[in-house]
Amino acid sequence: MQVDNAVRSYGLHINGHESPPGTNMVDRHSPATGRLVARYVAGTVEDARAAVEAARTAFDTGTWPHLSGQDRSRILNRLAALTRRDAEQLARIEAEETGKPLRLARGDVAASIGLTEYAAALALTMHGDVHTNLGPGFTGLVTREPAGVVGMITPWNFPLLLLMQKLPFALAAGCTAVAKPAEVTSGTTLEIARLTVEAGVPAGVFNVVTGRGSVVGQHLAESEHIDVLSFTGSTSVGQRIIQASGVNSKRLSMELGGKAATIVFPDADLTAAVDGVLFGVFFNQGECCVSGARLLVHQDIADEFLSAVVSRARELAVGHPLDEDSDIGALIHAEHLETVLNYVNIGRQHGARVLLGGARLDSPELRDGFFFAPTILDEVTPQNPAFQEEIFGPVLTVTRFGTTEEAIGLANSVEYGLANTVWSKNIDTALTVGRALHSGTVWINTTIDGAPQLPGGGVKNSGYGREMGQVGFDEFTEVKTIQIRTGQREPFFR
Ligand code: NAP
Ligand code: MG
Repeated sequence: MQVDNAVRSYGLHINGHESPPGTNMVDRHSPATGRLVARYVAGTVEDARAAVEAARTAFDTGTWPHLSGQDRSRILNRLAALTRRDAEQLARIEAEETGKPLRLARGDVAASIGLTEYAAALALTMHGDVHTNLGPGFTGLVTREPAGVVGMITPWNFPLLLLMQKLPFALAAGCTAVAKPAEVTSGTTLEIARLTVEAGVPAGVFNVVTGRGSVVGQHLAESEHIDVLSFTGSTSVGQRIIQASGVNSKRLSMELGGKAATIVFPDADLTAAVDGVLFGVFFNQGECCVSGARLLVHQDIADEFLSAVVSRARELAVGHPLDEDSDIGALIHAEHLETVLNYVNIGRQHGARVLLGGARLDSPELRDGFFFAPTILDEVTPQNPAFQEEIFGPVLTVTRFGTTEEAIGLANSVEYGLANTVWSKNIDTALTVGRALHSGTVWINTTIDGAPQLPGGGVKNSGYGREMGQVGFDEFTEVKTIQIRTGQREPFFR
């Protein structure tokens, strides 16, 4: 794998072959420097159809679904080892294409390896149940079988990590797949496709078609040859996919938008909470579905706490992704930077006060990229669109509360329910609030944490279905019940 200053060029990955780069290519310029870093094929509906057909054939007539769990596990462990071998290059590709700091991209790669190794273990343990207490001569087998062909559509903020929350689990279960990465950040998905070949995944089991969501993604949503569609992205595109996917009643797993709250109580470890608030909102430039974009802070400590948050935020280094000292990188593209800026302005029009940032950074070193200042908006009411809507940038809104009930009400008053965070050393408060929050994940005295064993996903407009953990694996399996009567049975009709 080559990652110097050359432009990486990729073809499509269909049926075990990578096609040569074509004439119709998408150019990716680094959002931090403007340099051309990668070129991917602008796939067509015909390309998508060919990839789905390859995955369908590999599932219906190939060996993959019928291999022993041990064989699939071995191949997945090889994939994990190859990912580890290429970790630094993968992190660099991710940093160049997304604009995130290399230092943090390394964490994405490490987490992806952990997910692959965990899925390899699940491949070994996949099994059903046998029921023998149904009465004499009646036995029930509840089997777990691979669910079929999986379509995977992923966004640009964690291209590798979000793919690896799906792919190794689907492969472990015996499924085959077609992935459609985001058009602007397709590199690591294509690199993983190459690694799957090297690891021994048979032709057709994993296919990648790059290109536009409205073309390639739409085809995956509509295809009647896909059994499971696993989507991560915005709520608006997710709703379009739900509509398009009705043709064959395919199973959907929808990981959509979020607007997480971080609730800070006076009895928290406030030093840890300051750190958590900053990481929660500025990690990955705030381009994170579980970003703690809304700070809810108890009124008794609000002023002091905020001044600590602001002074620590001033020390964060916004800089080039490949600079080891950078804490915060560049936003994904110019249009998104405009959206973030627009939300700051709307927030102000609704009464918010800018405590920090609020504008694009255009110092000579950063002028060529889409860098946005870490931003803190105080006095944000629950009616403010900056409080309600997903900004997906480095913008923290601050709202004060008096009682625990008020904090819970504020946290739950948005359309999303992906994740929330509570900072309190009081077990009564922390657990009461944790249990009352409407979200798929709640962090207590930590944030944006995780492990391959722990599922993630949303409620309300953050979607449905879960990824990771045993339940995430189960989404790629189908349950079959086999009922057996042995011996002489009573006739059905007299
Ligand atoms: P997006 O605009 O919804 O795009 C997500 C993916 O869908 C991309 O690959 C996109 O392709 C594709 N797509 C676009 N239109 C489509 C269509 N009509 N049919 C099928 N696919 C289509 O999301 P994004 O802007 O990339 O990412 C940001 C969003 O993702 C945020 O809302 C964030 O909260 C959400 N997200 C959620 C989670 C989670 O776990 N819940 C995690 C991360 C991000 P192209 O862009 O290439 O056209
Ligand atoms: Mg988008």
